Order: sequence, then C-alpha cells, then structure tokens
Amino acid sequence: MTQKIILITGASSGIGKETAKTLINEGHIVYAAARRLQNMKDLKEIGGLPLQMDITEEQDIIKTVNTIIDNHKKIDILINNAGYAIYGAVEDTTISDARRQFEVNLFGLAKLTQLILPHMRNQKSGKIINISSIGGKMYTPLGAWYHATKHALEGWSDCLRLELKQFGIDVIIIEPGAIQTEFGDVMTAPMIKRSGNTAYKDLAEAIKKSTIDTYNKTGGGSPSSVIAKLILKSIKARRPKTRYSAGKYAKPLLFIRKYFGDRFFDKVIMSQVK
Ligand code: NAP
Repeated sequence: MTQKIILITGASSGIGKETAKTLINEGHIVYAAARRLQNMKDLKEIGGLPLQMDITEEQDIIKTVNTIIDNHKKIDILINNAGYAIYGAVEDTTISDARRQFEVNLFGLAKLTQLILPHMRNQKSGKIINISSIGGKMYTPLGAWYHATKHALEGWSDCLRLELKQFGIDVIIIEPGAIQTEFGDVMTAPMIKRSGNTAYKDLAEAIKKSTIDTYNKTGGGSPSSVIAKLILKSIKARRPKTRYSAGKYAKPLLFIRKYFGDRFFDKVIMSQVK
C-alpha cells in the first residue's frame, strides 16, 4: 500500500492512540491531534507527528489543516475520532453541557471535515473515517446527549457519503462496542456529580457499577487494538463498506436492535444496569 498522509484526532489515548501507532507502524505519515500534547510523546518517538488541537477551537482546527497542507499539499485520510460521553439524567444535565457534547462529538469534526474537503476534492480521492459507536444505533439510560450526538453523526455521515461519491471520496462509519480506554473514567465522575444525588441516583449508581465492570475489569471490554485493526482494514479496502462494527457487545446488541422491537430492547438494556 502506498504511503498515505493521515490525520487522526483524539490520538492522546484509547482508540485514537492505538490506531495512530498501528498506522505509523504500517509506514504512513500520521498527524496525531489532541489537547494533551504530552500524552503523545510515545507517538513522536515512533515517527508520528503530534499536534495540539482542541476540536472545539476553530483557530486550532485551521492551524492543524494548514500545517499538513503546507507540508504535503494534501491529506489522504481523515479519522474523526476525538469524542467523549456525558452521562446524567436529561433533567439534571445543563443545556450548556449538552451543547459542549455536540461541539466535541459533531460540530468540531464537521468544521475539520469542511476544511479538508476542498483538498480531497482536488485530489479526487480520500477517505473520511468517522468513529461513531454502537451507541449511534442503540441507547442506554442516562446517555441521552451522548447517544444524540452519535445518532446525529450516523445520519450526517450517511448524507456526506452521498455528497462525496461523485468526487471519489469514501465516508466510512466505525461503530465500536465496549472498548477499554479512558472513556469510562471520563464519563463516570461527572455523571455522579450530575445525577448521584437526585431522583435518578439509583440509576446513576447502577450505571457507575456497570461502567466500572465494563471499562476497568479484565475482560469487561475489548482492547483498542480491535478497532485499530478495523480502521486499518477499512483503509486498505479498495471498496470499503459503509459501516464496520466490532468490540464487546457490538454484534449481539446491533442484532437485537435491528430485528426486535423497542420494548424488548429496553428490557435487555435495563437488565444490564440492575
Ligand atoms: P478516550 O480514551 O477517552 O479518548 C478520547 C480522545 O478524544 C482523547 O485523545 C482526547 O484527547 C480526545 N478529546 C476529547 N475531547 C477533546 C477535545 N475537546 N478536543 C480534542 N480532542 C479531544 O476514549 P476512546 O474510547 O478512545 O474514544 C474515542 C472515540 O471512540 C470517541 O469518539 C468515542 O465516542 C468512541 N467510542 C468509544 C467506545 C468505548 O467503549 N471506548 C465505544 C464506542 C465509541 P485530549 O483529552 O488530550 O484532548
């Protein structure tokens, strides 16, 4: 495979870092973006190119794109991975926290994509890989705003695929299941702060327990390498699938969601947070 110029966001931990490592080791030129530059020293040591970028800051996004275009005159692959989950009851979550969730998980990556598209159109090629979630197809209690962003990303990506087919640009959706990263820790403490002392406290405590079981206990979730390999597969594919899913719980939950009714799915999900 010829060497590609790749930008991946959220590369300071979890899925993003593992994917960056995999792609660097495959011989590609990998720009790794995140806020915590110090957490990407290991990527630099193996040949990666870390860039400090807050996905909610337009100036950071512009600077990132300009750096890559100045150096290479093109970007072959954009991996929109940066993201996090806010959990907490809808009643307990401020609209400002909800807006921030959309800024990071949707509008930030949308701005970045907009700035890269003219270059991919000129090249008449490119791949935009959006890291959604099985949570873009299904739902969990107290996760309304997270699921809203990922459901939105799914629809947004589908529309983008239709727009970009004429220019030879692929849009690929990745739907991870439970992957052991910093994701659980980032989500749990603020959820307990929001809903740990309200009418939703029992649910919040139950979700905290199941989140710890999934993200912090051996075998509770899959390693990030499962998704890194899937992303690599989608990059290597001459005609990639529109969607890929993998990781713990991904296949069974997507199957139940697709073929059974809402009430049945409600029961399955609620049985996991007792
Ligand atoms: P993670 O270990 O917490 O990594 C999240 C990454 O996003 C970090 O590198 C973080 O970097 C970056 N990020 C967060 N806010 C940002 C901001 N404002 N600007 C720039 N970067 C920001 O979690 P992960 O599991 O690898 O998550 C990666 C993606 O996978 C997310 O989109 C997540 O929704 C999705 N996903 C994860 C799972 C799972 O079970 N882990 C399941 C389905 C989908 P900095 O903090 O350094 O900026």
